Amino acid sequence: MTMSKSGLGILLSKLRVFENPSAVLEQYPTTPELAAEVCHLAFMRGDIEGKRVADLGAGTGILGIGALLLNAKEVFFVEKDEGAVEMLRENIAKISNLAGRGKDIEKRAKIIIHDINDFHERVDSVIMNPPFGMKKRHADSPFLDKALEIADVVYSIHNSKSMGFLRRKASRYGFALSTFGASLKIRGKMSFHRKRIHTINTLIACFVRE
Ligand code: SAH
Repeated sequence: MTMSKSGLGILLSKLRVFENPSAVLEQYPTTPELAAEVCHLAFMRGDIEGKRVADLGAGTGILGIGALLLNAKEVFFVEKDEGAVEMLRENIAKISNLAGRGKDIEKRAKIIIHDINDFHERVDSVIMNPPFGMKKRHADSPFLDKALEIADVVYSIHNSKSMGFLRRKASRYGFALSTFGASLKIRGKMSFHRKRIHTINTLIACFVRE
């Protein structure tokens, strides 16, 4: 039986997130609600079940784990920060227990500890929440370039101000773009954050090769 969006969100809320997020790497975790939204959208459009999926800048793994729970054939978690990868491994083990599927989930998870630029697998779909470029303008650009090179369908979370930039990427690589508004709550853990909880207006961008 397929998992509901709310059931998925509840399971994903049990995962560990960054304790000391790195501002340079822009480690803003996707909330369980937003992760469930993106994964469910991709699933409903036929881009998860039985597919090879990559989660670029996987962090602690919430998006790729969502894809595994929705029966992706395999998921490549590409992340260069070893601390995040340690938590990612723990999260995969934890969710396997919670979902009661034995080793099934672990077998389908491929962890790649590399810069995304060194990842060259061809996949069916990419699902990602790349750095937004809040500190470094267009830090999401190499992520989009990589995703649009290796997949025919890409789901990606961006700052809502990036619309023009996303359109230019889509047209350069020959993809149709649709976007959906969503908000991302982030906890103000980094030293330059004054408020405890920030809400960033985001876009879920869906690119499909034409
Ligand atoms: N996808 C996760 C994390 C988002 S934060 C989530 O949705 O919760 C962005 C992640 O990208 C961070 O974990 C950061 O370490 C990673 N990252 C940044 N630049 C990278 C690069 N060049 N190669 C691989 N990972 C990178």
